[in-house]
Amino acid sequence: MEFATWNALLFWGLVGACFAHEMWRTRDNPTKRSMICAAYRKAFPVVLRNQHIVFGIFSILHRVLEPSYSYQWFRFGLAGSCLAVSSTVLHEFVHSTPWLYANVHKVHHEFVTPNALASEYNSVADTLMNFINTAMVIYIAQIPRELVYMFLAFTNFSVVLSHHPPWPGSKHHLVHHTKGKVNFNFSLTPLVDDIMGTRAPTPTVA
Ligand SMILES: [Zn+2]
Ligand SMILES: [Zn+2]
Repeated sequence: MEFATWNALLFWGLVGACFAHEMWRTRDNPTKRSMICAAYRKAFPVVLRNQHIVFGIFSILHRVLEPSYSYQWFRFGLAGSCLAVSSTVLHEFVHSTPWLYANVHKVHHEFVTPNALASEYNSVADTLMNFINTAMVIYIAQIPRELVYMFLAFTNFSVVLSHHPPWPGSKHHLVHHTKGKVNFNFSLTPLVDDIMGTRAPTPTVA
């Protein structure tokens, strides 16, 4: 199976499961249910377009990429850590540069309450930026081909589930969405924000 197919299957599978979960959770509340459906409908065409962009580039990369077969797990871990940090730095960068926020990242924040599908609800520039970042990390780390599948599973799970409340890990990123043009919680993992000093201040009891 090509990386592109693997990535697409994982993404849509996860989103489908999350959507089914939402429908099940709101089975007694038709108003909430139609709001969720409307939100998914809004995100669908944009995400479909972005997934096609990624699918196309992946297919080309699959043919030109000749990753090393040396089976080194530390590269996998290193790549994971590098991606966690580089994506946080990039995310902070697009928030702190007004032009970039307005033209690149604002679209993603149209969802104040995100959902699984909205995890990839991005402008084309944002989609490309994230994709290039991930592809560069995979390429530079020379992750063995077999492990790239696992790496993509890892990134898909963390991106999709961090936008799917009530998943416990989504709390951290939910703050990033609900507070508007915020300047904290740029990472999907609190640990990276702690290291970079960009974690949302915990509200003090008055
Ligand atoms: Zn953001
Ligand atoms: Zn988000």
